[in-house]
Amino acid sequence: MDTKRIVIKDKENPEDQELFEAARILREGGLVAFPTETVYGLGGNALDADAARKIYAAKGRPSDNPLIAHISCMEELEPLVREIPEAGRVLAEKYWPGPLTMIFPKSDLVPYSTTGGLDTVAVRMPSDPTANRLIRLAGVPVAAPSANTSGRPSPTTADHVWQDMNGKIEMIVDGGPVGIGVESTIVDVSGPVPTILRPGAITQEMLDELFGHVMVDPAILGPMKEGVRPKAPGMKYKHYAPKGELTLIELKDETIKALYTPGSRLYSQVSRMMADSGKNWKLDMESFYMAWKVNEAAVQREQTGAKVGVICTDETMDEYTVAVKRSIGRRSSQDSVAHNLYAVLRDFDDLGVDYIYSESFADTHLGSAIMNRLNKAAGYHILMV
Ligand code: AMP
Ligand code: MG
Repeated sequence: MDTKRIVIKDKENPEDQELFEAARILREGGLVAFPTETVYGLGGNALDADAARKIYAAKGRPSDNPLIAHISCMEELEPLVREIPEAGRVLAEKYWPGPLTMIFPKSDLVPYSTTGGLDTVAVRMPSDPTANRLIRLAGVPVAAPSANTSGRPSPTTADHVWQDMNGKIEMIVDGGPVGIGVESTIVDVSGPVPTILRPGAITQEMLDELFGHVMVDPAILGPMKEGVRPKAPGMKYKHYAPKGELTLIELKDETIKALYTPGSRLYSQVSRMMADSGKNWKLDMESFYMAWKVNEAAVQREQTGAKVGVICTDETMDEYTVAVKRSIGRRSSQDSVAHNLYAVLRDFDDLGVDYIYSESFADTHLGSAIMNRLNKAAGYHILMV
């Protein structure tokens, strides 16, 4: 199949004319990849069982991993669900359109091929103007998982989509790089307390503030334990494994404490090293120590003759002596790290390194989503220092 690629001129104000053909393809059961504020989605008619099957085939995705139905306005929610729980109304009011997916009891209209056989349906209303307008013009809810081959990092540019989907789908709508860079937060609103099934840009802190307290599905907090079933079936898959073996370096609590205790041995040692380096120090001790330890692990590995890369940050980049290094963003900006995360992982696949060592990040706010994706990519392979 020839995959057509169209480029949206002004992605904040797409013209209907630019999107008519894509909307028609969706309506008629074909597949169109399009930008959203989170990552690129691979869209098909969510009410068409055949379209859902085509999505699974194009991605090579297991068909028990349900799809998210995307809508453009509140009126489009009602036909898809049996009821809208109070928490769902509150969240929709506050965070839709936006990077939030909610799980509802499904109506008979939604085929089981879209929900992977579940009696619930995941729904999101994207805020990206191109996505929103395309869904409106299609006139059908649009099932849209990330537009990557299953097992590869999610696509954050149209080029990433092209690499994975060229020849497999009818069209790619190119709206430039996405904004957020990690997939939506998934919240189950069907129980008494809202539960986060996947962390994203609508953070636990934001939800706690709204509801007092929300729950977090234990499956997203650590490696999959025997007998634990994640409530979002997709979270059970080892999402994406880089070609090189990825190790995250994390600081122990006691290390961080020592770094903030003047007079401790570590504090004196690190202060001395920072002074000796003769650079004009802009780094805090924690970031400096992190970079030092990541570099140390990488250099040790390099000495065995392996090809090694590091995932560093703008602030720490100069500290590294290893050959291959890529900045994932600024330590001071979680937004920048989320934005670059998948592109950097794709980059390392292309570079063909044997081992990757990565800095880690605080697990709060958007950091929960960042660490969730990095941990999954690393298969929870963590070196505590
Ligand atoms: P993706 O489409 O790649 O963003 O992945 C969709 C995610 O939503 C997967 O982790 C699915 O398991 C999850 N999901 C979709 N529908 C449901 C549902 N009805 N209940 C729980 N999780 C769901
Ligand atoms: Mg995905």
